[in-house]
Amino acid sequence: MESIYMTNPELSSANSQWSLGSSIDNNELIQQTLMVVDDYEGNLHAMDALFKSEYKVVLQSNAKDAINYAIQEEVDLILLDVDMPDMNGYDACAALRENVMTAHIPIIFVTAADSQDEEEKGLLLGAVDYVAKPLNLSILRKRVRNQMESIHYRKKLEILSCVDGLTGASNRRQLDTMLLQHYSSTIRFGNCLALLMIDIDNFKLYNDTYGHIQGDQCLKQVAEAIMAVRRRETDIVGRYGGEEFAVVLPDTDLEGGLVVANKVLNRVRELNIEHKGNSTKKIVTVSIGLAVFAAKQCKHQEISLEGFIHQADKQLYAAKNSGKNCVRYTTVKTAVSQKS
Ligand code: GH3
Ligand code: MG
Ligand code: MG
Repeated sequence: MESIYMTNPELSSANSQWSLGSSIDNNELIQQTLMVVDDYEGNLHAMDALFKSEYKVVLQSNAKDAINYAIQEEVDLILLDVDMPDMNGYDACAALRENVMTAHIPIIFVTAADSQDEEEKGLLLGAVDYVAKPLNLSILRKRVRNQMESIHYRKKLEILSCVDGLTGASNRRQLDTMLLQHYSSTIRFGNCLALLMIDIDNFKLYNDTYGHIQGDQCLKQVAEAIMAVRRRETDIVGRYGGEEFAVVLPDTDLEGGLVVANKVLNRVRELNIEHKGNSTKKIVTVSIGLAVFAAKQCKHQEISLEGFIHQADKQLYAAKNSGKNCVRYTTVKTAVSQKS
């Protein structure tokens, strides 16, 4: 236990007076969580006062509670005291690094032990920074800010790397990853998984008639209509390629899959986008293939994910062959080979 020995006397007014010269909007960072771990209550209060206007601050007076909190809740950055009873900061850092739920959280050590050996030890354990007491609060504030900004950019990049730039739906890579995850857990827990393959009807003709820029606009609107049908957090709408979309519905049986498919059909019709080349309705429509994988009824080991996707594709072709603007479906109960 040791106190902070502040070198900056302006702590009480420190929260709003410095211009940090950054292009990031402060409102974006206030969503981020800074966890401060220190056994000395005075230090916790000082850190709270220093940072609470910029981030969500969580205070923990011992390492074990801090680790448990970080496992269960979202924490973006940890300010970790080294000298604490029961579990010291180095051991806490090692424990956080070993746990898959917390290994990614950057840690800044805050300590009175300011020898270079100690600093090296902290950095070797995986800390991103090491701050020695007595603290210069304006420097500490800037160091925390630097970390929070890079965390913010990293999160943005992670999101961007999963999203299709034109439509805002999940991109193909993310779709494949999520589909595999849900397919595996469907098998493990013996649930149902519904997959919709959605293709815009006569879209080549739409581009030929209205041009590619309007074609892109139409794709965006159709994607928004499909995403608006999504009801559960776990449902995924992705751009499968070109003018094809896929919807993954975990824990959903045939009845549920059909409800979603028909809603998609209707939502797209309700957009009422003119498409002179479409034979009957003269508006943009989609065709949908639905396959439902009922894991309990399958010989699991014989069913591949590719085979399941192929079943949804086959239904999409059936919908196209039935005049388009409709849904065709199947329940996959038996072993499926890729060529079936
Ligand atoms: P079908 O009803 O059988 O699906 O016919 P279709 O014309 O929709 O299908 P086809 O596969 O022949 O053509 C798909 C078209 O989708 C061709 C391509 O120009 C268009 N397309 C694919 N990606 C994009 C895109 O990002 N923007 C635009 N504007 N068009 C795209
Ligand atoms: Mg098409
Ligand atoms: Mg197509």
